[in-house]
Amino acid sequence: GVDIAGLRKSYGSNEVLKGIDLTVKPGQVVCLIGPSGSGKSTLLRCVNLLEQPNGGTIHVAGFETTDPEVNLDKMRQNVGMVFQQFNLFPHLTVLENCTVAQLKVLKRSKKDAEKTARENLERVGLGDFGGRYPDQLSGGQQQRVAIARALSMEPTLMLFDEPTSALDPETVGEVLSIMKNLAKSGMTMLVVTHEMSFAKEVADRVVFMDGGVVVEEGKAAEVIGNPQQPRTQDFLRRVL
Ligand code: ATP
Ligand code: MG
Repeated sequence: GVDIAGLRKSYGSNEVLKGIDLTVKPGQVVCLIGPSGSGKSTLLRCVNLLEQPNGGTIHVAGFETTDPEVNLDKMRQNVGMVFQQFNLFPHLTVLENCTVAQLKVLKRSKKDAEKTARENLERVGLGDFGGRYPDQLSGGQQQRVAIARALSMEPTLMLFDEPTSALDPETVGEVLSIMKNLAKSGMTMLVVTHEMSFAKEVADRVVFMDGGVVVEEGKAAEVIGNPQQPRTQDFLRRVL
């Protein structure tokens, strides 16, 4: 799981996260919603220390990331991340994309790495696509490879930052359905998304952020279906 307390992050004099508390219990799915610039990506990037927080504590997958002694490599092995842009390695095949970190970071044998990669490609419905290159795939297929690649490291937590925002409308559904299955399998997930129907259906909790603070949080049906705070109501009126 994830336990964030009093998280602060500034860029120069611009304080982007102003004391965030957020918990994802093991096996839970939490969706993070909020307007552009509210600090959602920054929050996600702080969780695996792609950004260095200025204050607060973050416990993730049994590690305290804010401890200067933390083993960053070990921590990041436990935290899979999927971005809006798929960030696949264009010069590697789909299978190689899913094995490279297993070989380099986990020091797995090629045989074991390929087995794990194949299983995860199967899981995202791309069992026959291992030999292709990313530019031979649709956006939705590329994003499914990115998910398979992250899963191949066998993380205990998955972070998603608007994984469907860069996709053609007709391929959004295939990626959401993979994420739904992942949630059902018991994966702990923190998902930044504008897909309110996904949040409503899949999330255990929804957190609404604005201006670097958590404005409202609760059960998905409550926050999305019956928001209490004017800023949440305003945001939902614009996105729904
Ligand atoms: P969006 O919905 O558009 O993705 P967001 O909620 O993810 O927005 P962030 O990307 O976290 O928002 O950005 C929050 C604020 O931090 C913005 O004002 C942004 O300009 C600023 N910011 C983000 N990254 C940096 C950076 N590397 N350097 C300086 N400012 C940054
Ligand atoms: Mg963002």
